[in-house]
Amino acid sequence: MADGKYWNKEIETMPREELEAYQLERLKEEIRFAYGNSPYYRRAFDAAGAKPEDIKTLADLGRFPFIDKKTQRETQGVGTFLGELCAVPEDDVVFISTSSGSTGVPTMSPFTKQDFDEWQDVESRWFYQAGMRKNDRYVHALNFSLYVGGPDVIGAQNLGALCIWGGTLPSERLIFVLKTYQPTCIWTSPSYAWYLGETCKKSGIDPVKDLSIRSIFVAGEMGGSIESTRKAIEELWGASVYDFYGLSDIFGACAAMCEEKDGLHIAEDHIYVETVDIKTGELLKPGETGELVYTTLRKRARPMIRFRTGDIGFIDKTKCRCGRTHGRIHVIGRKDDMFIVSAVNVFPSDIEAVVRGLKGITGEYMIRVYEKDYTCRYEVTVERESSNSEETDEQVSVRVLNALRARVGVKPAKVIVSPEGSIERSTHKAKRIVDERNLTYQI
Ligand SMILES: [Zn+2]
Repeated sequence: MADGKYWNKEIETMPREELEAYQLERLKEEIRFAYGNSPYYRRAFDAAGAKPEDIKTLADLGRFPFIDKKTQRETQGVGTFLGELCAVPEDDVVFISTSSGSTGVPTMSPFTKQDFDEWQDVESRWFYQAGMRKNDRYVHALNFSLYVGGPDVIGAQNLGALCIWGGTLPSERLIFVLKTYQPTCIWTSPSYAWYLGETCKKSGIDPVKDLSIRSIFVAGEMGGSIESTRKAIEELWGASVYDFYGLSDIFGACAAMCEEKDGLHIAEDHIYVETVDIKTGELLKPGETGELVYTTLRKRARPMIRFRTGDIGFIDKTKCRCGRTHGRIHVIGRKDDMFIVSAVNVFPSDIEAVVRGLKGITGEYMIRVYEKDYTCRYEVTVERESSNSEETDEQVSVRVLNALRARVGVKPAKVIVSPEGSIERSTHKAKRIVDERNLTYQI
């Protein structure tokens, strides 16, 4: 099936016009299917006065109501085990994953056999796009327990790579695997890729010289799309880092970087992307920044119609230099993580971009968000490298503060400089924000 640099050339390079015609056909079918088979969608579409036959163009999707995490929580387990959003009987469901529950009650995501197989074909597409071939040895170092990223290893296996189901092995055993089997590709979180590389070095293994990793796929955090973070990990490993982006609500990785690393191609044959104003829900144009809203085009077990992801970013629908026509999403942060200081929207990813790009500090950081005099403020703690003997703490603090002001648009109340090693290293999903507000500024 693979052709040169493409896993599925026909799909990946389909001219925009054809791609959108395909999306429209699928959208009509998905809406019809959801209306006919899911009690929730039937009720919600009726209440909104929207009918499946109203879809004549892609823009007509705007007549249909949004759903979000709350909708999932309120409908799961209602009526049947799979809940009211589901559009197939339980007998047709072969797999479920659940979200981590990091923002509330875990939500469950069901798949039919066809959903599952098509999802893995998309994963093969991303691996292939990031340069994985049959002769690669691949370590899948993601959690297998309930997590939607676990099965993505099957996409690599279907591609023909030799797959090592690493899961969440303790670091010392994972390092044993890296050293003994000399794999060429690995998937983990950006924090863990950094931690693992540093841990290798501490135990006398140079990731660049002693290991064979040449591609690192990262997901689950913003780091892979922050250039300075990506470069730091690349330097540490002597490898190329590709950001992948997944949603437990849809499937493992829904979008991934190609060699151009200018945004992440999203599988537009499976997902229709809209961008809406965070506050009003009003539709924005491609290229404008807002909340990303996804509609599945092929999912049977649980169609997602106008799902508000809580991710803030934009989509670029111009053709990529790699030849692929599928749009590229640029995610800049989570709506939940954003805070507003002096009318400026601050994303932790911007702070990370600064901290990871400066010399003389380790790149580790913590952000504290708090209120004083009824105003939201933030302060940042960084670590000074122990080898940095040229500056005083005060000088480091001023330098970081000025860099933050330039990039973020509003300076922190304070930059605290702490010694190297004082910020706790994280193994998987890093928690770097302490939010002490009473949450009166929610959008
Ligand atoms: Zn591309």
